[in-house]
Amino acid sequence: ANASLVIGNWKMNGNAALTRSMTAALREQQEPTANVKVVVCPPFTLLGELTRHCYYDNIAVGAQNVNAHNNGAHTGEISLAMLQELGVEYVIVGHSERRAMYAEDNAAIAAKVTAVTAAGLTAVLCVGEDKEQRNNDQTWSVIEQQLSAACNELSRQQASKLVVAYEPVWAIGTGETATPEQAQQVHSKIRGWLKQQFDAVGDETEILYGGSVKADNAAELFAQQDIDGGLIGGASLKEQDFVAIVQAAQ
Ligand code: 13P
Repeated sequence: ANASLVIGNWKMNGNAALTRSMTAALREQQEPTANVKVVVCPPFTLLGELTRHCYYDNIAVGAQNVNAHNNGAHTGEISLAMLQELGVEYVIVGHSERRAMYAEDNAAIAAKVTAVTAAGLTAVLCVGEDKEQRNNDQTWSVIEQQLSAACNELSRQQASKLVVAYEPVWAIGTGETATPEQAQQVHSKIRGWLKQQFDAVGDETEILYGGSVKADNAAELFAQQDIDGGLIGGASLKEQDFVAIVQAAQ
C-alpha cells in the first residue's frame, strides 16, 4: 500500500472500445484513490481517443515509445511534439521488448530519456536483468550499467521528470513474479544509485516494479519500502484486474 503511481502498458493490444471501458471502470471505482496517479499507455493510434475519454478524470496518458529527433525524414516514427499535441504526459523508454526485438541500445535509450525529460514530459525508464544474468549474479551490474548509460547526461531538473521501472525480463509475461523481497532488494539499490546521482531529487524518484503484477500479488509488492508503484502489462488490459491493482496501491 501507499504506492503513488500505477501505469498500464497495453503493449500492442487494445482498441477504441477498451479506451472507453477502461476509463469508465477507473472512474467508477468504489474507493477513491486520490493519492494514486494512474497512467494508461495504449498504442499510438489510441492516444487521442484515450485523452478524450479521460480529459476530466485524474488519469494521465502515456506513450510506449518515442523518437528522440524533433522531426524530419524518419518514416514510421513519432516525435515528442506529436505526443504533446495529444496531451501525452508520460513516455515509456527502453522497455525490454524494445531492447530485445527492436535493437534499442543504451545510447538510443539515453537520447530518448534526455529528449523526453528536456521537453518536460515524464520518462519511464525500464531496466532489468534476464534469467541468465540473475543466475550469474550480474543483476546489479546490469542494472547499474543501464541506469548510468541512460541517465548520466541528466540535470537534476530533468531527473525530477524521471520514473524508473524495475522489470526483470524473466518476470515479464511469464506469470513468474519477483518476490517482494527480491524486488525490494533491487529497488533499494536503485534508490541508492539515484540519491548518489541526483541527491534529494533521487529520494523522490518513483521506482516502479513490473513483471507479472496481478490483482492478487500487487498489495505485497506495493508494501515494500522502495516500491512506489507498478508497471502493469497483461493485467492492465482487464478492467477489473487493473482497477484492483490501482486499489491495492491505496
Ligand atoms: P506483464 O505484466 O504482462 O508481465 O508485463 C509487464 C511489462 O512488461 C510492463 O511493461
